[in-house]
Amino acid sequence: MHLQELNHCPEALLSCNTEALHTLFPQPTLIHLPGKQQAPLFISVLLHGNENTGFLALQRLLNKYAGQLLPRAISIFLGNTQAAAKGLRRLEHQPDYNRIWPNTDLNTCPETEFSQQIVNIMRDKQVFASIDIHNNTGLNPHYACINKLEAEFLQLANLFSRLVVYFKRPLGVQSMAFSELCPAVTLECGRPGQQYGEDHAFNFLNDCLHLSAFSTHAIQHQEIDLFHTTAQVKIPADRSFSFTDQQADFYIDHQIDHLNFTEIKAGTHFGQVNNNLTLPIIAIDEQGKEVTEDFFEISNQQLKVKRPTMPSMLTLDERIIRQDCLCYLMERLTSFPT
Ligand SMILES: [Zn+2]
Repeated sequence: MHLQELNHCPEALLSCNTEALHTLFPQPTLIHLPGKQQAPLFISVLLHGNENTGFLALQRLLNKYAGQLLPRAISIFLGNTQAAAKGLRRLEHQPDYNRIWPNTDLNTCPETEFSQQIVNIMRDKQVFASIDIHNNTGLNPHYACINKLEAEFLQLANLFSRLVVYFKRPLGVQSMAFSELCPAVTLECGRPGQQYGEDHAFNFLNDCLHLSAFSTHAIQHQEIDLFHTTAQVKIPADRSFSFTDQQADFYIDHQIDHLNFTEIKAGTHFGQVNNNLTLPIIAIDEQGKEVTEDFFEISNQQLKVKRPTMPSMLTLDERIIRQDCLCYLMERLTSFPT
């Protein structure tokens, strides 16, 4: 799987849809376009093939500047075009394209190799900032994620949303690899197919193209709601779960996604536990340590949280839960660099 680099924007990219993108770019492709300011903005889209908002926003940006010099150079990585053709996060035989980046815990494979190559190329080009654009499936507000608590990262994230999430796990995420080179964010733009998500991502990209430098203006506490991830919650492969089958090992509350970005109390239910009455989930903290019993307990066959927390990324999509996780748990950060 050889990384292809282009130094122009192919005409067809301006109008093709995400399903057809793989016919233009069957292999991983990095496109460099010049601009008035030379240090490029790195933009990745479709790392998850079903999350097309980033691609649509980027396509609009390319159309807006077609035939003109961009305000700043950009480098574009078009992500998992094979999975995009099928409308899937990834294909069964593929690794997750947002877990393959340098410092991943995956074994070396063609995908980890081209990711390393992209990072090396962008380091040589003295990348200005990095933006990786995603959607999610549950009821979530738009927010930006960062992996370093530094003023420039907070500024970049705050340009997108007042809601910002800081995390260190999972490993192998694009924005974490780029955080070693430049201010880097992951954008979560709600569900695919929402016009508001595309508009928001497009306006953010356009604003970033016009940034000449990060300001020395410190982010004030009243401008930002900053949370950090305390655990990722998964369902073990050997436990069944369902939103409809009451006999499943874990019969999950079918409105669970309403808890996203809500500060919930100890005792809040996640669902009913059947058959094997041990915890049907595993919570892993930012250091990779299992912390399931710090957060969850079973009482009266109900799975409950033991302490106040704020879930995110809860989804009703069973495939996403198996391929990724049930949710993240977060808490508010009140001290950060200004
Ligand atoms: Zn994603």
